[in-house]
Amino acid sequence: LIEVKGAAKSYGSTPALTGVDLRIEPGRFAVLLGPSGSGKSTLLRSIAGIERLDSGSISLNGTTVSSASMNVPPERRDLGMVFQDYALWPHMTVAQNVGYALRRRKLRSAAATMLITEMLERVGLTGKASSYPPELSGGQQQRVSLARALVGRPSLILFDEPLSNLDADLRERLRLEISTLTRETGASALYITHDQSEAFALADEIGVLREGTLEQYGRPEEIYNNPATPFVARFTGVGG
Ligand code: ATP
Ligand code: MG
Repeated sequence: LIEVKGAAKSYGSTPALTGVDLRIEPGRFAVLLGPSGSGKSTLLRSIAGIERLDSGSISLNGTTVSSASMNVPPERRDLGMVFQDYALWPHMTVAQNVGYALRRRKLRSAAATMLITEMLERVGLTGKASSYPPELSGGQQQRVSLARALVGRPSLILFDEPLSNLDADLRERLRLEISTLTRETGASALYITHDQSEAFALADEIGVLREGTLEQYGRPEEIYNNPATPFVARFTGVGG
């Protein structure tokens, strides 16, 4: 369960979030849509704990993790992250990169190896455990990053435009894999994109951000049939 209340954040004199309220129920796959600069990454990074809020609060599964006066660090938020640029350690093997997400667990190395091997198999990277990220294609690197996000079975996975660097064919295939694997784990997901068709293909719920404000949050058919504002209608390319 993710609850964001009145989240506000500026960078110097540039407002990025201007009072966002959002509630994502457990197990839902939520997609945030919005133009460049609308605050999507800032909201995601605030939920991750990478950015601090100026005001408002964020709670995860009933525990407040962000407010103006406190910020629980990302590694203690029970979440996984997948970024556009993969963010893998180039000097670590694929298995070590995935295992990095387990470092805080007190697992025997055999147990960790088993989890890593199983996860690599699920993302289609059997046989790549000892490779280094620079030896892999972009799609393979993003699969490593997905495996790292999922291996610890966090209750929340955050995606910031994970497919933007990949070609169209691969985008569609990986989109399906992301959806299937994430839903299988039962985790909630918050997925950022500025691609409308990706949003409608993936989402249980869609949020539309504009200039730091959430203009609408609802099921895809609600957004489609009843856009709350002319901007939502225009931006989602439907109705209005
Ligand atoms: P994009 O689709 O281009 O990734 P976005 O919706 O993710 O955009 P954000 O990155 O959240 O938008 O940016 C929101 C606003 O905050 C923008 O005006 C941006 O320039 C500003 N901003 C974001 N990060 C920083 C930063 N580290 N320092 C200063 N300004 C920032
Ligand atoms: Mg962004």
